[in-house]
Amino acid sequence: MRQAYSSRYPPAVSTTSPSSRFDAVFCDVDGCLSPEFFGPADTAKIAAVSNHNRRAHEIGDVPAVTLCTGRPLPFADCMARIVGVRDLPIVCEGGVWVLDPTTYRWEMDPSLTHEHLSFASAFGRWALDTFPGTYLETGKSASVTIFHEDGPDDLRERVLPAVEREIAERGAPFHAAMTWTCINIEPAFVSKATGLDRAIARARLDPARLAGIGDTMSDHPIRERVAYFACPANASDAIKAHADYVSPLERADAVLDILSRLS
Ligand SMILES: [Mg+2]
Repeated sequence: MRQAYSSRYPPAVSTTSPSSRFDAVFCDVDGCLSPEFFGPADTAKIAAVSNHNRRAHEIGDVPAVTLCTGRPLPFADCMARIVGVRDLPIVCEGGVWVLDPTTYRWEMDPSLTHEHLSFASAFGRWALDTFPGTYLETGKSASVTIFHEDGPDDLRERVLPAVEREIAERGAPFHAAMTWTCINIEPAFVSKATGLDRAIARARLDPARLAGIGDTMSDHPIRERVAYFACPANASDAIKAHADYVSPLERADAVLDILSRLS
């Protein structure tokens, strides 16, 4: 059951219409709502997602969409506004932050300490100093995302092993993993899983009435916490194996296809 709307967005009608099987959809961003690499978003499709969220709010016969992303909070905040998130919590920086739009409060995972934040900051500086050509994604608080001007191959072959050794030598409770484009160094005890748990508790959501969309194994925590999980055609084979439905379409087209099946 969804939490009551705040005064900021008074409800037009109930959001738990019996015609909707789900109350909410947690959707990954990169590779789902927008391309993995920088480029123009398909604004017509994004507008259609926003219209879906308006319908969820005003009519209540479809589930509202919110975000669960590894992107930093400022990116997620902006994206959430564009796709019309109103009252559902937004999971960002891979669970480091949960943004509650009803109060416009950012809540960092309470298990993170100043020492963890200091480690992330120092480790980013170490990576920049140690590997010429690397650069960091801005806006992250407790994790580090390393890119390389020559692309991901050098990161995977040369930088990632050194990063893993350095983390082990420093004895920090962090882990490193390669994505399609970059290395993510994250607190080992914080993930989309812990972020989703906090978001679900905050909004008093029923997992039996949740759906999710993701394109990589970093979205598996969404799979584990929703009743229905779907992927775009561009998703990795590994996560597709866990999906209830794989859309024949890609990215935002797939999100709209999946949403059309949830009413
Ligand atoms: Mg993704």
